[in-house]
Amino acid sequence: MSEVANNLAVLCNEIGPRFAGTESYRRAAEFMVGQFAAYQLNRPHLEPFAFTAWRRGVPARLIITAPVTREFECYALPYSPTTDCQAPLVNGGTGSVADLAGLGPGFVVTDGASGHRQEVYERLVARSFAGIILINRTPGGGLHTGSVGNGQPGKIPAVSVRYEDGQALRQLLAVGDVSAHLIADSHLEPATTWNVVGELPGSECPEELVIVGGHLDSHDIGPGAYDNAAGAVMVLEMARLLAQRRGELKRTVRFIGFAAEEIGLLGSQHHARAHAEELRRARAMFNCDTPGLSRPWGLVTWNYPRAGELAANVSRELGVEFGCREGKHNRSDQFPFTALGVPAVVLSGGRGEMTPPFYLHMAGDTADRIPTAKLAAAAVMAAHIVLRLANDPGRKNLERKPVGGVSNTTSSSEIHATNNGCAADDRL
Ligand SMILES: [Zn+2]
Repeated sequence: MSEVANNLAVLCNEIGPRFAGTESYRRAAEFMVGQFAAYQLNRPHLEPFAFTAWRRGVPARLIITAPVTREFECYALPYSPTTDCQAPLVNGGTGSVADLAGLGPGFVVTDGASGHRQEVYERLVARSFAGIILINRTPGGGLHTGSVGNGQPGKIPAVSVRYEDGQALRQLLAVGDVSAHLIADSHLEPATTWNVVGELPGSECPEELVIVGGHLDSHDIGPGAYDNAAGAVMVLEMARLLAQRRGELKRTVRFIGFAAEEIGLLGSQHHARAHAEELRRARAMFNCDTPGLSRPWGLVTWNYPRAGELAANVSRELGVEFGCREGKHNRSDQFPFTALGVPAVVLSGGRGEMTPPFYLHMAGDTADRIPTAKLAAAAVMAAHIVLRLANDPGRKNLERKPVGGVSNTTSSSEIHATNNGCAADDRL
């Protein structure tokens, strides 16, 4: 078994779901730091930080009480508050402002297609609805999940239902009034989690950093193989490959497995805040989240100077065509770094042998679906790109200027694009 296949199998099959604040996440972090040590990175360590963990209680229940009595299976979404409440259902369509206009109070049934889950949720909070019943947009995908709190307690209850059950609820609503009883149970508690960090020192400009990261955590309902064990494994493989070429690195490359991305980019925000001073001299941030696995390859950049030149050089050196485009969004771990003024680069591409649906944030995102040979090949290319980022000529002692606070609450209207090569738009 290749190193990539083995690392993926450990994270997904031996450890499984790696939800923030759980014992299994801690095991994943210890595994990753152990691999960093085995690959002979400098200073492999866990970087702890405090956060508010959300603990799922007894399973949530959605019981239709009128015009018939029927229960639908549902999941409480992370950071949904506890509730035991009866209210009418209202059809919220896509959750857009227009679709919500004129709706009376109640639980809003919506597929959330009008924007990111968090934005739709906040729109409902602002209108003081009783709660959100979020329909999975993937037929056959079962129940899906996604945080509604950015690491802070949500204000109204939030549950998900299957695509098929969502259509049934919509059809019931189309013919008359529907009432429901929603029960959800969870609690919050102070907890500690850990980013996983290791470095390869630069020989010429060790104080200038290239950050290579990907989130190690997943949601609690499945192993999160593509989102984002694949990205964490890519970070590990790049560390292994580049450690064998450490003498060639002019700048320092810091590898990070980020904690708690799925509940609000907490790990990358912590690292950016805690290291803001040294990040002023960071050359670039290379993020691996649901990474590209096959043609058509591309570099998605955010404020990277002369990005077209970078893509042209990489295309020539690897003998593979790389497209290049600017892609700004605040839904993954590059965002806290770009907020400090650090340019970001993401390797985008096709999905190899993976076929849609990708089951992101669903139990179906499993390791058997990941083409590990393609993932290994993608990591070789990614390592080459990072080598170039570490060695690119450029002005030394470049001082980055923050472009805003470290926050991921920027509204979508301020973001020019929402797709960084990630397969889903409904994700954190
Ligand atoms: Zn992800």
